[in-house]
Amino acid sequence: MSRLEELKKSSKLISEAYSFAKKAHSNQRRFSGRPYFTHLIETAEYLANWGMDEQTVAAGLLHDVVEDTNITSDEIEKNFGKDIRTLVDGVTKLGQVKYLGDKTQAENLRKLILAMAKDLRVILIKLADRRHNMKTLAYMPPDKQKRIAIETMEIYAPLAYRLGMQKLSGELQDLSFPYVSPEEYKWLIEHIKEQYEDRESYLKKLKPIVEKSIKEHGISLVSIDFRAKRYTSLYKKLLMYDMDIDKIYDLVAFRIIVNDIEECYATLGVIHSLWTPIPGRFKDYIAMPKPNGYRSLHTTILGPDKRIIEFQMRTTAMHERAENGIAAHWIYKERGGKKRSRLANEREIKWLEQLRSWQKAGADSQEFIDAFKIDFLSDRILALTPKGEVIDLPYGSTPVDFAYRIHTDIGNQCIGAKVNGKIVSLDHKLNSSDVVEILTQKNKKPSASWLEFVVTPSAKDHIRNALKTNIYNRLVVHSKNQVELKIIAEDKVGLLKDISGIISRSHVNIVGIKSSQQKRGSFHIIKVNCEINNKKKILKIILKLKSLKEIKEIDYRFV
Ligand code: MN
Repeated sequence: MSRLEELKKSSKLISEAYSFAKKAHSNQRRFSGRPYFTHLIETAEYLANWGMDEQTVAAGLLHDVVEDTNITSDEIEKNFGKDIRTLVDGVTKLGQVKYLGDKTQAENLRKLILAMAKDLRVILIKLADRRHNMKTLAYMPPDKQKRIAIETMEIYAPLAYRLGMQKLSGELQDLSFPYVSPEEYKWLIEHIKEQYEDRESYLKKLKPIVEKSIKEHGISLVSIDFRAKRYTSLYKKLLMYDMDIDKIYDLVAFRIIVNDIEECYATLGVIHSLWTPIPGRFKDYIAMPKPNGYRSLHTTILGPDKRIIEFQMRTTAMHERAENGIAAHWIYKERGGKKRSRLANEREIKWLEQLRSWQKAGADSQEFIDAFKIDFLSDRILALTPKGEVIDLPYGSTPVDFAYRIHTDIGNQCIGAKVNGKIVSLDHKLNSSDVVEILTQKNKKPSASWLEFVVTPSAKDHIRNALKTNIYNRLVVHSKNQVELKIIAEDKVGLLKDISGIISRSHVNIVGIKSSQQKRGSFHIIKVNCEINNKKKILKIILKLKSLKEIKEIDYRFV
């Protein structure tokens, strides 16, 4: 019986989520022609096998309900509670983030995904979802195949790796490889099959020798296996070695699992006494784990017939951690063995230190889950351009900081901004995942008042420079009065652009545009501040503005 089947029997939550999702998707099919619900079973099954808690497994079953059926988040909450709703909403939200193939954006996008998820369990659901989608990618239309595969290669596989889920990360890469680089994949398949088989049969001959020797030294061997290098990492390595497959010593490696750390080192001693180690090839990832938490001993020796072999030694706990990463923690938690959870805390990893109170999280499960809520990005904001590009800014940044981060000219010519479709003031504080659109006006100069609210040093420098470069301009600015035009208009897409167009064609500098949120009837109130001290000119502009049929009323005052 599968783990999911077991959970369905023991957990009311999971069995209810199962029936609910089955019913909700009953009329839908996958591109493969199979019932849509099979995708949810697979997703939940992965989560169950990673040992995730019942809420995560239930949310895995429900993760596409809001996106793909008529069921709302409210209904999810009513039936399954707030937690499940948050998880499902989180996955739905992540579905909106798309990687457009700009490599310079990849790291920002990975960060944004971490920040958006708020709860790491959302990412685990998304990863399980993506794994099944990759396995069934062959049925997708070709144009989608490539985009999804590239996104998986550049965003989700590295995310899985960062969460310590090496196995999943490798799987995702290998599933993407044929779509991302079809030619290279074909080449690899044609050239390595023989070598793989040859290496494996060579190692198989050595296995009894290794096994016997380990046991003779009183080491309790848990397992001894071969690990074949994954296609993607093999290909990357080949690129560094002139595509010479004979130089890849770890094409197939021994993987030895023992009971504790002492036995790892003892096994290393046994291997080194059997064959000569190759200098410089021993790596102690137990004493010095990789940044993603990976722990193992690696060594390379010169075996019989002068062939080179790599060995990897680790404990069961390290192995589980290397395969399942962060998800493994739920397993430790569930089994509750004292020795195991102590081990889990012992081998802390760097990125997790950024997460608050991971170390303390051991006591009760709520506290533990809270520790996984992501807040290590609280000093950074990742905002988006309307095209989905990610802009990384310090906390407290405003649309002006955002504008200067895109381009100096955009910053200098900024007259207003929309955040998530709504007009905001230029000193508005941005939040992560805000979509920010900057309204500009040609030949506009920045205002000295911006210096009071911008937070990025580069925005400050650009503003000062722009003010300095034209001393005449600065004097003029000071001698001028500002006028606030109060415009009452019907809402229309592009109206603000029309208004700013008319004003700039009259060679008048716009200092800012605000659109008040409260409506007067079905009308909007728009306030435009511009630099004019000439009453005639004001009236001229008002006349021109009134030619826009949406504009019902215009008032002005000096400010
Ligand atoms: Mn899905």
